[in-house]
Order: sequence, then C-alpha cells, then structure tokens
Amino acid sequence: MSNLFSLEHAQQLDSQDPLKHIRDEFHIPKQDNGDEEIYLCGNSLGLQPRLAAEYVNDELSQWQKLGVKGHFSGDYPWMPYHEFLSEGFADLVGAKIKEVVSMNTLTANLHFMMVSFYRPTTQRHKIIIEDHAFPSDHYAVESQIKYHGFDPEQSMVLLKPRDGEETLRDDDILAAIKEHGESTALIMLPGVQYYTGQVLDMKSITEAGHAQGCNVGFDLAHAAGNIPMQLHDWGVDFAAWCTYKYLNSGPGSVAGCFVHERHHSNKDLPRFAGWWGHDKDSRFKMENHFVPMESAEAWQLSNPPILSLAAIRGSLDTIKKAGGIHQLRHKSLKLTSYLRQLLEQELPQTINILTPEDTKASGAQLSLTVNLDGADGKQIFDAIEKAGVTCDFRHPNVIRVAPAPQYNSFEDCYRFVSILKKSIEGAVS
Ligand SMILES: *Cc1c(COP(=O)(O)O)cnc(C)c1O
Repeated sequence: MSNLFSLEHAQQLDSQDPLKHIRDEFHIPKQDNGDEEIYLCGNSLGLQPRLAAEYVNDELSQWQKLGVKGHFSGDYPWMPYHEFLSEGFADLVGAKIKEVVSMNTLTANLHFMMVSFYRPTTQRHKIIIEDHAFPSDHYAVESQIKYHGFDPEQSMVLLKPRDGEETLRDDDILAAIKEHGESTALIMLPGVQYYTGQVLDMKSITEAGHAQGCNVGFDLAHAAGNIPMQLHDWGVDFAAWCTYKYLNSGPGSVAGCFVHERHHSNKDLPRFAGWWGHDKDSRFKMENHFVPMESAEAWQLSNPPILSLAAIRGSLDTIKKAGGIHQLRHKSLKLTSYLRQLLEQELPQTINILTPEDTKASGAQLSLTVNLDGADGKQIFDAIEKAGVTCDFRHPNVIRVAPAPQYNSFEDCYRFVSILKKSIEGAVS
C-alpha cells in the first residue's frame, strides 16, 4: 500500500478524480509569494466561479445598453430572472421547481417563514432549536417568540449534546420532540450544524415533528451545495439557505427558500406580502388586491437584485458542469474521508475531530480542536494561516476545515495536514 501521507499519493488521487477540471472554473486566491492559497473555507465564503463574473458582467452590460427595457429583453430578462435559478435550487434541495424561490437573505427568510409557520397559541407556543444554534437563528427565534407576546424562557426549547459529548444524538432529538410535542408549534433545526459539521437526520425529525402536529423547518446554510436532500419527499414545511457558502455566489448574495407545495394554495396561511408575490399575469395592473401565486414565489416581496441573482446563476451552472450535487457529494465523501484519515494517522494525539465519522452525519466540513500543552487552537490557527492556509476559527476553540468538492483537491488536504503538523511541531519545540 502506498503511503497515504505523501504528495505523490495525493496527486494520484487527484489524477483519478473525474471532477478535477471543475477547479479551473474558479478563481483561487493567491498568497503574497504568488502560490495558490490552500483555501478550505467554503463553509464560510465560497470562491468565485468564473461564470459568476461573466454573468454579472452580462447584466451590467444589458443595463448599459437597454436601461428599463432590460426587464423584458435579452436571453435572461430581469422580470422573470429568479425563475432561471429555480431548477438549480430544486435539484440541490430535492424539491419541485415551484417549491423554491430566490429572495432576500437567509435570516430575513427565516423571519418571513416564521410569519407563516410559527402561529403560537397558549397550548402550542414552543419553538425547538438547538442550544448551539447560529446566533442569527437564535435571535430570530427569540424575537419571534417575543413578538407574539410569549416568553422565550418558556417557549424556546434548546437541544444540547449530552454532557461530555460534542454532537446531538438522533434519539435525543426525537425524544425531545416527543416530550415537548404537544406544546410545540415549530421545530427549526439546521440541516448541517455550523460549528461541528454534523448532518442532522432531517427526514426522521420531520416525521417526528409532524406526528406531534408541529411545523418543521430547516436552516440549510451549511447544507445547500454540501449534501443532497429530499425536502419534498421528506415533507419538510419550509427551509431557507444562504448562497455564499458552498453555493459560491458572493458575499451577502441573495438567499434561497423552500415552501412545500401542500401550503401553496392554503388561503388561511398568513404571510407578509409584497408585489413580487402577486400573480404574474395581473401584477402590473396595480389593482391593490393581492392575488398570491400558487408557488413558493408567493412569499417574494420585492423585485430582486439581479446582479446577485446573476452570480448565483453562474454558480448553479458551474454545479451543473460538475454533474450536479450527487456527483459532488460522491467526490466530497472521498475528499473528506482522505482528510480525516490523514489527520488520524499523522496527528492522533493532538487533533480531535468533533464531526461525526458516520458519513450519514457529516458533509464537507471537519471541525477540529487542538490538544497541546503550551499552545492553544488559536495560536495554531494563526500559524497555519501564515503558511498559506485559509480556514476559520470559531470561539471558543474550533478550527473548521472544509474541503469543498467543487474546487478543493486531495493535494490541498495533504498540504493542509503537512502545514498543520509543522505548526504543531513548531509550537512544542
Ligand atoms: C451563515 C449562517 C447565517 C447567516 O445569516 P445571513 O442572514 O445570511 O447573514 C445564518 N444562520 C446560519 C445557520 C448560518 O450558517
């Protein structure tokens, strides 16, 4: 058997990778010395696809040439521009085309979804989230509870890993849903937990929630573009995701949203409305009588920022070139498992991996802690960053490393582990 931990072995794995050419579709940032960075930060901000720049420039040029007529002219008129993203989004999350829409930003979408799907009563007022939810999700949920006149102390159920454990057990999540079910209005959990990289079992959570009469929504910030999903078949009520992480669409880019089709024609469902959610055929009659579309588009408010949507379209076309999310996941499993093997083999004492090993419960990210006398995780993080690695550090002590299957290589994983090893040796010598 050849030595896993060698540049030759990593390069051999790259040469066998049917998706290796997709890296050329991206701009890889350079270090000061001109070498490419070892960029393992796609969980935070994905790199720029060449097509994103091209499509944004196309729209800038349409605007120069056409002015307002750009709404109706050209191959990609702005009026229906969001529709050009629907097929790509639907493939990513496992939805029907009419169940997805691009609009707003992630936290805004969570709020708009809660307007429709969090309808607390004195009997049922709780929202189940996780104790270590991303702050924005926590604030959104807390403020919704207060907005409805309830007390977060009573109405927020926070799921925690067991003492001494880092990740949530599926059984504990299901038990909590059972325990609080009758008083719970909404379960809102991540598809992939941002801190540990744990993938939650969205299907069983949805089933368990529905069995108790709760609505179930997911934040897919770290799941979209990372793992395949089947939101429609699982019966999820709603979901929202940002597009700047594994979806490589640029900082602050427009978010995605899913609403299950069974809710589309429900006239009793309250929503905050805007003109872009109004029936397309009569939108411009300006009659001030809201007629919602029978699709996720009904939740749109405004005409969307086309330059951002153009970048997303570039990203989705790049994913298409790679053969779609299932192809990417196939590579991702190999890439992440190679990284894990190297870390376990080369740094068994000093690096602890929080992310579950089970491939059903993990995606493209490994979350690492450093056990080292005389140096903490932040010092090691600073050292590897100086040596050309871009990944990220999350307080209190986690280094998150995300080999993104679109642009990362096995060689990136090898180089990362070599640099990490040297930095750890440097810190103890
Ligand atoms: C990245 C991320 C956000 C960011 O929210 P924005 O509204 O896009 O700023 C929110 N929630 C989770 C879980 C995230 O990972």
